[in-house]
Amino acid sequence: MSIIQFNHREPIGSSTYPMPNGLVDLKRSASMLSTNPDFPTSTIYIHIPFCDQICSFCGFNKSVSSEDTKEAYVDALIEELQIYAHTPWISALNVPAVYIGGGTPNSLSADQLSRILSFLHQNFPLAKECEITCEGTPMNFTEDRIAILKHYGVKRVSAGIQTFNYDIRTEHLQMREGKEELLKYIERIASHFDNFNLDMIFNMPRQTDDIWQDDLETVLDTPVKHLTIYPLVLLEHTIFYSDFVKKGKYPAPEQDREMRLFNLSQQKLQNTSFATGRYTVRDWAHPGYYRRYIDTNAHCNHVLAFGAGAHGFLGTYTYRNVKSVKQYVDMVKNQKILPYDSQTFCSIRQIMERFMVMGLRLINLDLADFDLRFGEPWQNHFGDKVQALINSGFIELDGSRVKYTAQGYIWANNIRSYFEHNTTGAVGYSDTRGLGKTGKDHYSSWLRVKATDAETT
Ligand code: SF4
Repeated sequence: MSIIQFNHREPIGSSTYPMPNGLVDLKRSASMLSTNPDFPTSTIYIHIPFCDQICSFCGFNKSVSSEDTKEAYVDALIEELQIYAHTPWISALNVPAVYIGGGTPNSLSADQLSRILSFLHQNFPLAKECEITCEGTPMNFTEDRIAILKHYGVKRVSAGIQTFNYDIRTEHLQMREGKEELLKYIERIASHFDNFNLDMIFNMPRQTDDIWQDDLETVLDTPVKHLTIYPLVLLEHTIFYSDFVKKGKYPAPEQDREMRLFNLSQQKLQNTSFATGRYTVRDWAHPGYYRRYIDTNAHCNHVLAFGAGAHGFLGTYTYRNVKSVKQYVDMVKNQKILPYDSQTFCSIRQIMERFMVMGLRLINLDLADFDLRFGEPWQNHFGDKVQALINSGFIELDGSRVKYTAQGYIWANNIRSYFEHNTTGAVGYSDTRGLGKTGKDHYSSWLRVKATDAETT
């Protein structure tokens, strides 16, 4: 009987698979866009790589940039949208969810946001009830930006809080606002958007159990309907990476403590409305407030991704756009070509693996969907692996649905990686700084975790 043991808990999981790390073939890509897609469902991701300030932990592709750079970027973004728009492939799509992420999308002006959203509505087949999400800082959801977002049908907003604790925010995260100020911003945003998410981080320096509990209790007292909680991950080329690894300012984050705080979060939230609509290991929601964007991507649908460093999946290939804003603007505006940095044209086996890697983000993946999608039983390809995970106490099958056990919740990202081919690894929707060729190289050596850490005996 196969038993699996994971040595290191993966703090975050893959947001795309397989890793786009092959050569770009623009001719083949253009030829594909002139045909119809095999299936119509696609989400849209738009990356805005600008922030007003740089937070200590953040590894996303972003920078503090001038107004001129932002304006040139928005022009280029619309050029990139234009390259795809009205191709047979795009015209045949149905888009149930759009996610504008970053960076800080609401660091753009109301006019810039308006131009992007207007172009999208006019040129892409958004579904009637399309869920459009815009990320941003709580401070930048100003009345003029809110008015534009609402005008263009943005129904969902997401704000990074990380912690309400003033000392941690100011001393360790490069953030300025205190709890009372943040709560006022949250009230204002919630008065406009019923579907509102907060991002929170645990296992940060000086964040005691009491502080984390207080953070969760504070969220529970707000009107927000969705909560995403992440463990701290040390990403290369971040301020924290330098503080932790190079300067030795803080002790290494302990995995045991991370697991303890993870379990504490589950206990704290389990009898609340957030538990009722929980749909991934890290996403908690009031009933009906799940993120359609995540759910659609988890079902192995297309992801049309735009912007510098964005990652997409167009049915037969995954791709990554160039990270540099300058290079992105040049490729799109001057050369008028798709700004791809790399691509991987997928085999059927890789798409099947993608189904598992993306799908197991959900806490109730229905494997019957695999049979429908690929026309053959999932057992033919993953029966042994699923059985090994059951034998090891990580998952159970409820009919054809995969249910994580208590241990499975803790090791969920490792379980997802278990279905990846060994040579690939986790990436985000937009590239992180310092991303290496295998994808998992962007973790520090302390927290570097590889799919090969799964030992099967
Ligand atoms: S956490 Fe958000 S606001 Fe902070 S640097 Fe990263 S993208 Fe910008």
